[in-house]
Amino acid sequence: MLTMKNVSKVYQTEMVQTHALRDFDLEVKEGEFIAVTGPSGSGKTTFLNIAGMLEPFSSGQYMLDDVNVGALSDNQRADLRNQKIGFIFQGFNLIPDLNLYENVEVPLRYRGIKAAERKKRIEACLEQVGLASRAKHLPQQLSGGQQQRVAIARALAGEPRFLLADEPTGNLDSLMARQVMELLEQINRDGATIVMVTHDPELARRAPRNIQIVDGQVADLTLYQGVARQT
Ligand code: ADP
Ligand code: ADP
Repeated sequence: MLTMKNVSKVYQTEMVQTHALRDFDLEVKEGEFIAVTGPSGSGKTTFLNIAGMLEPFSSGQYMLDDVNVGALSDNQRADLRNQKIGFIFQGFNLIPDLNLYENVEVPLRYRGIKAAERKKRIEACLEQVGLASRAKHLPQQLSGGQQQRVAIARALAGEPRFLLADEPTGNLDSLMARQVMELLEQINRDGATIVMVTHDPELARRAPRNIQIVDGQVADLTLYQGVARQT
């Protein structure tokens, strides 16, 4: 379970102070698949980055399972992230000089996982995303949808319980977007909890739970659905 209570995030630059999140409250239960939508600049990426422990928050409480994230040292936080979190970035962030196998291997090496175990996991993950036969290809030899699937394989290789995806279909045409969505649905059925930021209302509707972030807070979606039903 992932719980944020009163989480705020302030970006302070020389001239301006931006409240990217303000008194943000959210509970994500084990096994959920949540789509996060909201206007540009509303705080979606900030929320996901904080959830993934990629950036600090300014105040409030973030609990991941029974761990108080705000109380951890840098090393403890890095360990927790490695154990529990998989992150799929906007854009694929693949390393152009490494083939697919090596791209998926990078975070496993970083975690000190032994070669035999690495091989097993990489092959299984590439198989799961349907790219086993392409292991030796470079990212540039693949379509956008295939590259996104490699990025998903890389996140899965760490066997994360929480998969956080920032616009995983943002750069894809609608067919490839649907295929990536189907893959995420399968991963969710296999047990991972998924939080996905998306601009695509059609994909969001497919997710069992939707939240909308407006002005750095979770909006009351029933209000919006009520409005939508009337129109
Ligand atoms: P979204 O993902 O919903 O588009 P973001 O979380 O990226 O929104 O941004 C929320 C707000 O925080 C925006 O006003 C944005 O300009 C601001 N912001 C995001 N990152 C930074 C940063 N590194 N420095 C200053 N302001 C930032
Ligand atoms: P590094 O691995 O270089 O220490 P981290 O991503 O762990 O980088 O942290 C980036 C910076 O943000 C560090 O200076 C860290 O102390 C700070 N920080 C504080 N709280 C958090 C948090 N909850 N999540 C991520 N970073 C945090």
